[in-house]
Amino acid sequence: MLRIDVLTLFPEMFDSVLGSSILKRAARDDEVRPAPVSYHLTNIRDYTADKHGKVDQPPYGGGPGMVMQCQPVWDAVAAAEAAGPTPPTRIYMTPQGRKLDHHLVEQLAGRSRLLILAGHYEGIDERVIDRLEPITQISLGDYVLSGGELAAMVLVDAVVRLVPGVLGAEQSIDHESFSPGSDGLLDYPHYTRPADWQGMAVPDVLLSGNHARIEAWRREQARIRTARRRPDLLADPPPGGDADPRGANPAVKRDDQQ
Ligand code: SAH
Repeated sequence: MLRIDVLTLFPEMFDSVLGSSILKRAARDDEVRPAPVSYHLTNIRDYTADKHGKVDQPPYGGGPGMVMQCQPVWDAVAAAEAAGPTPPTRIYMTPQGRKLDHHLVEQLAGRSRLLILAGHYEGIDERVIDRLEPITQISLGDYVLSGGELAAMVLVDAVVRLVPGVLGAEQSIDHESFSPGSDGLLDYPHYTRPADWQGMAVPDVLLSGNHARIEAWRREQARIRTARRRPDLLADPPPGGDADPRGANPAVKRDDQQ
């Protein structure tokens, strides 16, 4: 059972995402088992001590935009944490964090409680982030979003599908891109009916009914497309050494070699 708390100024943004498809089903009890996950949204604005409901102020030192203040964030976290039995793994979505990947998603799917903090505007006052240590700072990638909400939803989606009991057939996550069952490779290509579409035939082997041949073909396809699209995934880093397959010395500038 995984409990996920999300703290945001825009909880309504989560309604359609958490209320649809796999994420919705994951939080529903059924006849045979209790729901494997639960979601708890906290509106940070509900915790402001400001009588006009303000949660942000202009930055000290000047500059554009607004900064979310410490007090409402701190009190919202305290309230959310007190609402559940286990201390959560705290997460702050920020472009300055560690980039999200399958390995991190797997680790988080094994926790019993996550608390995800979504910033907005220019971000959150640095002092409350410091005070919330230990807190894992996670980025979706090297670009800036208007808020941490979409980033939090991506994280929740990726994590929830790895929680046992969420996806029907356990093996349906096993062969997917980056997963251990596919040796960390990209997924093989998929085909469905009709067998001929606009003159394009489905590869014969998939119609052969020979499971061993199909399995071997898929493994081969996964390897070929990984080599073409993501050769970095094939390169085994030397033990304890430089992870760069070209053996680059990180101290050496590579600009001249582009
Ligand atoms: N001034 C900040 C960006 C603030 S964007 C900077 O330049 O680093 C506002 C909020 O959006 C952030 O607090 C964070 O919660 C979220 N956010 C923006 N880009 C993100 C990304 N790539 N990954 C995760 N969260 C992001």
